[in-house]
Amino acid sequence: MYSQESISGRRRGRSGPTPEMLSGLACLICGTDYRDASGQEVAVVSHRDDKQLLACHGTCARMASGSVGGLDETPLPLAERVRRHGAGGS
Ligand SMILES: [Zn+2]
Repeated sequence: MYSQESISGRRRGRSGPTPEMLSGLACLICGTDYRDASGQEVAVVSHRDDKQLLACHGTCARMASGSVGGLDETPLPLAERVRRHGAGGS
């Protein structure tokens, strides 16, 4: 009866995506901050509102979207994601 719950709760006790993840600045799966990991290949794996949600190309993308390359979509440049992150919200 608890199998479903244990699967969805497997991510290190975090309750949900961080603001960085929602802005495409961090991997949705492993939490790598792309501002600290320049050169990391990323893939678009999902969307939330108008934003792209990103994961590391490879294992993370496959976990998030079922494909190592994520969705067939080009991620925004990091600089643009940083700008939007800073501009949005309060
Ligand atoms: Zn990752």
